[in-house]
Amino acid sequence: MAVWSSELSMKTKGEGDVVNITDVVDSAVRSSGILNGIVNVFVIGSTAAITTIEHEPGLVRDISDILDRVAPRNHPYKHHERWGDYNGHSHIRAALIGPSISVPLRGGKLLLGTWQQLVFLELDVRPRDRKVIVTVVGE
Ligand code: ZN
Repeated sequence: MAVWSSELSMKTKGEGDVVNITDVVDSAVRSSGILNGIVNVFVIGSTAAITTIEHEPGLVRDISDILDRVAPRNHPYKHHERWGDYNGHSHIRAALIGPSISVPLRGGKLLLGTWQQLVFLELDVRPRDRKVIVTVVGE
C-alpha cells in the first residue's frame, strides 16, 4: 500500500465561486501511479467547501440561492462581534457542506457518475488564495 499527496493552488473570485475541480484532481491522481484505493480531497480553511454536484449553470446558481436561505448573510452572527470580518454565514455554510470528500479509485479511475463533478465552493466574502490537498491511498 502507498500513500501519495499533492497540493493544488487556486485563486478564487470570492463568494459564489463554484469551481469544477474534477479534471485537476483526476490528473493529480494519475501522476500518483496508484490504481486502486481511495482519493481524499480536502480544502485548508474554514470558509470554503468541497462536495459533488452536476456542474451546470442552473445548479451553480441554485446552490448559491439555497445557501442564502440556509445561512443568510444578514443573520446577527456572534462571529461578527468577535472578529468584525462579517463572514459568519461563510463559516456556517462551510461547516454544513464540509471541507473534504473521499472518492473510490478503481483501475486508475475516480468512481464518479457522469453528472457528478467534484466541486470547490468559495464561501468567503472576498477572493482568496486556496490550497486543496489531494491524498491518494492504495496500490
Ligand atoms: Zn470569520
